[in-house]
Amino acid sequence: MEIELAPETYRLCIIENDAEFDKFMHWTKQNAIGVLVDPFFDDEKNLLKGAVIEDLAELEKQNKHIEEVERFCLLFTKSNEDGTFSQIYRDFVNDVTLLLHDKCTCDGCKCIGCQMYDVRIAHYGKDNVDIRQSNENTIVLNLSDSESEWTQEFVENHSVDWNDWESLVT
Ligand SMILES: [Zn+2]
Repeated sequence: MEIELAPETYRLCIIENDAEFDKFMHWTKQNAIGVLVDPFFDDEKNLLKGAVIEDLAELEKQNKHIEEVERFCLLFTKSNEDGTFSQIYRDFVNDVTLLLHDKCTCDGCKCIGCQMYDVRIAHYGKDNVDIRQSNENTIVLNLSDSESEWTQEFVENHSVDWNDWESLVT
């Protein structure tokens, strides 16, 4: 069976030895090119099987990041289409997810989410607060070294299902 592959997308490489392979991997990494080993395609050119080689150091970094995140309490701040923000508190250890505010304006808003930023900036200084980009619409504030205590009533009134939010904020 012959399969036509678009030349700009695929390229057949025969690599003779380890040194060549290292050189090749280095080149693909620099050019952000994915590498398939021993690929098999079906009639529709869908990939059936093939090992995807990824950079190990990159993978380890990602795994480390996931482990780190799962131990922590985080505050996700997701920008909404109307220009407001949703503030979602997530405690991964106790499996608690709270929608603190879904119409936060961030600018002088003083909702609980905004206050969490203010408190930490006042305490650690603006440049030392652990804020990361979680996805293109979301930033995440690391709250893991502080304990947030919520009243039972607050938890009942603000609890949301993490399954509904996880894909939106991560
Ligand atoms: Zn706010």
